[in-house]
Amino acid sequence: MIRINENYLKLKASYLFSDIAKRVTAFTTANPDKPVIRLGIGDVTEPLPQVCIDALKSGAEELANRATFKGYGPEQGYAFLRDLIAQHDYKARGAAIEADEIFVSDGSKCDCGNIQEIFATEGLKLAIPDPVYPVYVDTNVMAGRTGANLDGRYAGITYLESTPANGYVPAIPPVATDLIYLCFPNNPTGAVATREQLTAWVAYAKANRAIILFDSAYEAYIRDPKIPHSIYEIEGARDVAIEFRSFSKTAGFTGTRCAYTVVPKSLVAYDQAGNAHPVHALWNRRHTTKFNGVSYPVQKAAAAIYSDAGKAQVKAMTDFYLANAALIREAVKKLGFSCIGGDNAPYIWVNTGTDSWAFFDKLLNEAQVVCTPGAGFGKCGEGHVRISAFNSRENVEKALTRIAAALK
Ligand SMILES: *Cc1c(COP(=O)(O)O)cnc(C)c1O
Repeated sequence: MIRINENYLKLKASYLFSDIAKRVTAFTTANPDKPVIRLGIGDVTEPLPQVCIDALKSGAEELANRATFKGYGPEQGYAFLRDLIAQHDYKARGAAIEADEIFVSDGSKCDCGNIQEIFATEGLKLAIPDPVYPVYVDTNVMAGRTGANLDGRYAGITYLESTPANGYVPAIPPVATDLIYLCFPNNPTGAVATREQLTAWVAYAKANRAIILFDSAYEAYIRDPKIPHSIYEIEGARDVAIEFRSFSKTAGFTGTRCAYTVVPKSLVAYDQAGNAHPVHALWNRRHTTKFNGVSYPVQKAAAAIYSDAGKAQVKAMTDFYLANAALIREAVKKLGFSCIGGDNAPYIWVNTGTDSWAFFDKLLNEAQVVCTPGAGFGKCGEGHVRISAFNSRENVEKALTRIAAALK
């Protein structure tokens, strides 16, 4: 008799985006003459930078000729891309990361989800933010590291609460944990962590012989020069942290697919007897066993963003979304709500002070604008909604006019 992985039965059905879709469909069916504007789902809207389009085309042309054809590439990514990442994303910021510590992949979602399998399942103590990008929680539930979900929370997780009281940057937990998920700039809150806050996390991880999994998918949106772009800008982080980066939000690759994970060679984790093992070797084994590389034209397209023209085009694209975010932030504040995000992130986290689904319904029904109810991201998301800056300027302006009319 074939049996299932019963951990999957513990998963709280992910109703968030399907519930949103259902409510939007119900509204548009009843009101076919009222077009809705979607500021909900975290997907980009602007076309790929021209340098990426050119690189995709020339990469495809190379595949059309026997002399330049490429079959399987290195599982960890082509050297031309890994060298550029090490140089521009790390060494240029004073972070000593080498090209062979970088693993190119087809997405940070997969990497954040897969990384947990190289660590113990029994007895591993997890620290996970609330509200949160659901991948971190759900993949640990699937692996059997948690108990049942009671009242919206899984037994066996130390929740790192992001609340108005702590400025949406969770405090260091008062207990020891082993695997710590952090995401800055944050999805869904848009909060960023200061150098001092990250330094405290690195010290905590070091003291507990723990590992920080640092998701910096939104690094390209940081504009405040004091905010670190990488955890490796913090002294000692090489010994306690893995970092995830993606071209998705940086350069509009959500449908093109390219990302990378940094596993420093100095990072260790322990066996039951307390012997240290390099994590790099474990991840290399996992990656080369289960992954066969990102397609050549896509890696060429990713590499193109590191040229001078590429950097300018990426800056223009992220500036565009940040200008949307600034409009949203100002409009929300003008209506009397407190909010964070939008200055170093494409998300604005609005403290609605009311039930987040009720606020969602109000915006949908009275302004025909779709946001994301905070409760869908965790218990601490209640009382908040996320508004995304990923849309055209025209749609953002129209949405803000309608919201102002509906809420005044
Ligand atoms: C969008 C996003 C990613 C990137 O995912 P990809 O699979 O690379 O598209 C990673 N982490 C967070 C928190 C995100 O919002």
